[in-house]
Amino acid sequence: MISPEDTIAAIATPLGEGGLGVIRVSGTKAIPLVNQIFRSPKLKDLTEIPSHTCHFGTIQVDTVIDQVVVTLFRAPHSYTGEDVVEISAHGSPFTLQKILNLCLQKGARLAGPGEFTERAFLNGKMDLTQAEAVADLIRAKTDKAQAAALAQMQGHLAQKVRGLRDRLLPLLAHVEVGLDHSDEDHDFLSRAHLTETCRAVQKDIESVLQSAGVSKILREGFHVAILGRPNVGKSSLLNALLKEERAIVTPIPGTTRDTLEESVNLNGIPVVLTDTAGLREAKNTVERLGIERTRKALGQADLTLAIFDGSEPLIHEDYEVMNACFGTPHVWVMNKCDLPAPNYSFSPCRVGEGEDEGGNIAVRAVPLTLRPLPRRGEGTTVCVSAKTGEGLDALVKTITHLALDEKAQASEA
Ligand code: GDP
Repeated sequence: MISPEDTIAAIATPLGEGGLGVIRVSGTKAIPLVNQIFRSPKLKDLTEIPSHTCHFGTIQVDTVIDQVVVTLFRAPHSYTGEDVVEISAHGSPFTLQKILNLCLQKGARLAGPGEFTERAFLNGKMDLTQAEAVADLIRAKTDKAQAAALAQMQGHLAQKVRGLRDRLLPLLAHVEVGLDHSDEDHDFLSRAHLTETCRAVQKDIESVLQSAGVSKILREGFHVAILGRPNVGKSSLLNALLKEERAIVTPIPGTTRDTLEESVNLNGIPVVLTDTAGLREAKNTVERLGIERTRKALGQADLTLAIFDGSEPLIHEDYEVMNACFGTPHVWVMNKCDLPAPNYSFSPCRVGEGEDEGGNIAVRAVPLTLRPLPRRGEGTTVCVSAKTGEGLDALVKTITHLALDEKAQASEA
């Protein structure tokens, strides 16, 4: 039976070899328990030692297991709010496990996932928003994600919510008094003041919700699907954004048969890029599965980069790509801008609309123009060369701009 009264122990550092590894023990028996296995020439009894002190010694029962430093935190001035001992040993998984086993033999219970933080919450050391932020901070992969998690852990979000509550409670009290004494000829709260305060609070709630959308992106990543007909340069673009050769690039159409997912830090935003297998007609089972995964990736994406070969006129498959993008947030990417462009204007439209009656693509002899279209829900066009890197900065800027403005974009696209 799991009890909050148990003294719990766990290895607090990642599994694997390292310079140091830490075993954390928390609970009423934490200090006497470690006292049974810790020996120090300068210390007789760990139970008499003041809080927030570190002590060098050995972990041993019959034989010495390791040289360690133990740090003591007495309740309530510890992470969990209980007595806590942290044993810093050498970072050998074998040694750490041995020390942990000793703690368990002496009466500790193995801590469940997140149980130290759960105790911190139960003991009033942090609220739920802060407890949630601990996991975010541990997982943060960019400066922005780390800063957001840290701010939340320090209680910024909780403070904002408390502020909103503090403004609403007096209003509620006034409304209730007004209702209770409705027969009296006294205005406890003017209607104008009530409306004005409610509107102001509503605006602030909307702003908190908006920042929650950004926090979600910083926490879970902004999902970007790369879509285009074969050979337009999807894999090349993925590699260029990742700054490494991750996807296979060949002039043979259909090389990418499965989706390939990679994470990258773009201007502080964790972006999850998915190179898709395209949407062309499947010739076999492998291709069909790849295309099914493409559709799934598109469904889950926060943004689609629709890639076109800027050195060639558009063909039917390009219009199918456009078709799949309409109605979802997307950016039109004209790749291969290092090559001479054909003389036509790029006007995104649905399948059929760009074709003449014979099914040919109607290409107008107008020079290709970069359309500045950062209007919500409408695709921006960016010209790039995955080969030379030209235009990639502008593309990254567009992606991160959309990521941070994602709520408005996603809802209206
Ligand atoms: P995918 O099938 O859409 O993934 O296309 P790939 O990335 O495999 O590229 C197809 C071909 O186009 C390869 O031969 C690439 O070297 C070439 N390619 C990709 N991007 C560019 C570019 O920006 N400029 C030029 N000149 N060639 C490119």
